[in-house]
Formats: sequence, structure tokens, C-alpha cells
Amino acid sequence: MTTDPRPYRGRFAPSPTGALHFGSLVAAVASYLDARTRQGQWLMRMEDLDPPREVPGAADNILRTLEAFGFEWDGPVVYQSQRQEAYRQAAQQLLEQAHAYECACSRREITLAGRMGEEGPIYPGTCRPGLPAGRQPRSLRIRTHAGVIGFHDRIQGPVRQSIEKETGDFVIRRADGLFAYQLAVVVDDAWQGITHIVRGADLILSTPRQLYLQSLLGYPSPGYAHLPVVVDDAGNKLSKQAKSMPVDIRRPLPALRAAFLFLHQAPPEEEPASLDEFWQWALENWDTGRIPGRRTAPFRPGG
Ligand code: GLU
Repeated sequence: MTTDPRPYRGRFAPSPTGALHFGSLVAAVASYLDARTRQGQWLMRMEDLDPPREVPGAADNILRTLEAFGFEWDGPVVYQSQRQEAYRQAAQQLLEQAHAYECACSRREITLAGRMGEEGPIYPGTCRPGLPAGRQPRSLRIRTHAGVIGFHDRIQGPVRQSIEKETGDFVIRRADGLFAYQLAVVVDDAWQGITHIVRGADLILSTPRQLYLQSLLGYPSPGYAHLPVVVDDAGNKLSKQAKSMPVDIRRPLPALRAAFLFLHQAPPEEEPASLDEFWQWALENWDTGRIPGRRTAPFRPGG
């Protein structure tokens, strides 16, 4: 639910950690059709923020695959590796306004002292009152509060979270000097004027942190729609297998059809003869309202 008066602007923001896999294709299809059926723009952002996790050539490979599948994005591709100065400025602003503080804790110290949350150990607040004597700053963290942050997800319905209780003060610049996803995504969504975010529900627990950062930085908040994440019959995330299930660049139609079925869209009665025919049909028949409001959903390749 959004009352954003700005014209619709969506985006797809893959991380180049491997070839485009089925889960990413699902996010690309849904974000693309949600934008295009509402006369919106659809922008492409390559989230190459974390060089140690990147696979050389993956960014180009993902873009080539999307092109071969018939996706058309608006404007040039934005690369997060070229946006460091913007992240630095935002982090500086948060530090100067005391929304962020320097933290000396190592991962091990936090694991030993913190409680375990759904997203990893909950930061126990050790450095919140100031760096302990004799300790050097490692990372930069956001000071959270106990209040609940809620939003209405267009697919999943109401979501509520106390960041302080469930995540704790979170990192925006890591000990290795790299800016964290949470900061970069918020800075770039605002800079690109994104009004609608459609992405996998594996990120739904990140959204309250992103809404909080938007409020601290004075940015408008986009609307959110989180898609079910692909799991196997036992309910386990397919991420590993999904990565080993790259979509075949030479056979776009079966993969697009599978993504449609996964998203509970009625498939075309007759097999489309070409990609153009598929997209034309898809634009006429797409209905975001049919996507099930579940955080996970099973998918059987070929089924
Ligand atoms: N880069 C993230 C990923 O590939 C997605 C970020 C987002 O959509 O906010 O999982």
C-alpha cells in the first residue's frame, strides 16, 4: 500500500555471485511485469558491492541472460562498485547526527555475547555508549530503538518488527571497510527514485532496517512486495540447488513459463511461438494479486 505520488519506478538488483538462477528469474519477471503493467520504468542495478563474494564475469553473464530472455531496462545499468562516494557521504551523515557509532567488537565477541536472532547474532550493544578504553573502531553501526517498525507488504500483508530486539544495532560499514548491503540499497533506491520494490521474501526481514535508514536519511520510502522464495518439498531453501540450477540462456520460454507457474499466473493456453508473443501475452495477463502471500513456496523443476 503506497500513496507515493511519484510515477512508478521499479528495479531489479541482482548480486553478481553466479549465473542467473531460477529464484532470480522469478524476481526479475515479477518486478518487470509489475512495473510494465503499471506503465512504470524498470531500472537495473548490479549489486557488486562485495568483491570477495563475486564471481568474475557473472555481472555480464546475468545481463546477457536477461537480454536473451527479452527483458528491456530503462537507462544505463548502475553498478554499486561505482557508488562508494555516495555511501561514504550517507555513512558520514549518520555518524555526524549520532544515528551511527563506531564499534570495536569482533564477530566472535558478538556471537559469544549476543543472542541468536533469525538473521544472525543480535548485537548486545557493547559499544553503544562509546568505544571501550583501548579498543580500536572496526565497523560502523546504526543505533536502533525498541519501537516497532511496521509496513504493509503488497503480497505478504502486514509486517512488524522491533529492530533493536530482533536484530540489534546493525552494521552499515563492515570491519573490512566495505559498505553493507543495508546502507547501499537504501542510498541507491532513493537516488534512482525507486517507488516500488518487488523482490524475494528472503529480504523481508531486512525491510524494517531499510525503512529505518530511509527515515534517518530523510528519504521517501518505496512500497514493498515480497515474493515467495523457492523451497524444496521438505521446505528447505533451494539457494544451493538454485545456484546449481541456472536458467538456460538458449531456452528462455520454458524457464519463463516455469516462473509464471511458480507465481501462480495462469500460463498461456497455447504455447507462445516466440519471446515477443510470450511478453505480449504476459503483459496482458499478468496479475500481481495472484501471487500467494507466503514467504516460501515449493517448486519442482519441470512440474
Ligand atoms: N542484491 C540482492 C540479491 O541479489 C537483492 C537486493 C534487493 O532486491 O533489495 O539478493
